[in-house]
Amino acid sequence: LNVFLELFETGVTPDIKREQPQIVGISVCTMDQMLAGMTLAHLIKERGLPGHVTVGGPHITMLREQIPRVRALFDVVDSAVVFDGAEPLLRLAEALEGGRGLSAVPNLIYRDGGRVRVNPVKVRASEPAPMPDFEGLPLGRYLVPYPVLPLATSRGCYHGRCAFCNVGYGAPVGYHRFTTEAVVKQMLALHRRYGVRHIFFADEVIAPRTLREISEALESLGAPVHWCGCARLERALTGELLSRMAAGGCRMLLFGLESASPQIVQRMRKGTTPEEASRVLRESAQAGIWNHVFFFFGFPGETLDDAQETVNFVFAHRDAIHSASPGAFLLERYAAVHRSPASFGVTRIIDNRGTDLAIHFDYEVALGMGEDMAELVVQRFLDVLPVKEFGQYYVSDAHRFTYASDLYERRQPMPVWLASGGPR
Ligand code: SF4
Repeated sequence: LNVFLELFETGVTPDIKREQPQIVGISVCTMDQMLAGMTLAHLIKERGLPGHVTVGGPHITMLREQIPRVRALFDVVDSAVVFDGAEPLLRLAEALEGGRGLSAVPNLIYRDGGRVRVNPVKVRASEPAPMPDFEGLPLGRYLVPYPVLPLATSRGCYHGRCAFCNVGYGAPVGYHRFTTEAVVKQMLALHRRYGVRHIFFADEVIAPRTLREISEALESLGAPVHWCGCARLERALTGELLSRMAAGGCRMLLFGLESASPQIVQRMRKGTTPEEASRVLRESAQAGIWNHVFFFFGFPGETLDDAQETVNFVFAHRDAIHSASPGAFLLERYAAVHRSPASFGVTRIIDNRGTDLAIHFDYEVALGMGEDMAELVVQRFLDVLPVKEFGQYYVSDAHRFTYASDLYERRQPMPVWLASGGPR
């Protein structure tokens, strides 16, 4: 059963028929969006609707080496844009409008008769980030208490070393921090133009300097906008900075704890320590910021004792963790573990030819937990979580953020993740 078929047949293809667009751009940010994206592309072609169908986004960028080899994909799409799409999409529109060929459009993989051609990547990250345009979106119809809009303060990650992470998708995109002046200007513009009070920074991770400067700028304006984003559990996030951030409108931080075993964190090249993580979580909670924590089991070499250290840490910090996303290690394309598996004790990566668009792989390890054991540990961990009236585990980030924001406004305490029952 493809739940998107009816949705697109009734809600999207009639619009395309009416509007007769020259280009239909489909964003595929994560693997979860691939089915929806391909379903829409398929419907457009099957119905003979107008428009050059192009796909883009992080997931497509991650698959840039595989896409040219998957001919069937080009039965439903005309092209794919990889890396930062703002300029390539403009060049694509100009080329189509001018009736020119597509060979000069940067970052484009496209169908040319019976062949698939790959143009050179010339644009990896645009700077400064263009002002997003949400004109025409029915913001009031999203299933959230208040509309939440995304922005970014940077491209890439200033740490960029975690062995499980594929930031940059295996390409040297580097790290670009946008000026605070530009970011605050964009926040205020979105606030004025769309009436939004909630901004979700979609950065890989926000730099401490940016956190400070944005907070100071917004605090001086009376914190008209509430915001949240990812940060690192590191020394630079002092108690003083976290209090300043709360005063400047920060309502939720998403932290990658990953593991609380010192040797595993070191193997991951995370660049943090459990001690520092402990301090930051406590001081962030004291400042009134909602802490969301990511962690996972089964990094190559991790033992059951290491996993137990993480479990112990999470329970010991129950008052400072308001929501969390536990999971099992995924060996992802372009992560350091994928590029040099032997350095991390991975003895075999199972690259199944039947999964030609895979972005993560099964694997075998010399020491520690294997994939199945990691899954089992996650399941056992989830089994012992307190029963909740409203399962926070299934709540989206936008809901958590607006909830945290609302509680802060009303000076209400924030419920903690490991408490049972409903919100206190
Ligand atoms: S996991 Fe986070 S901090 Fe580590 S490299 Fe990736 S984006 Fe950067």
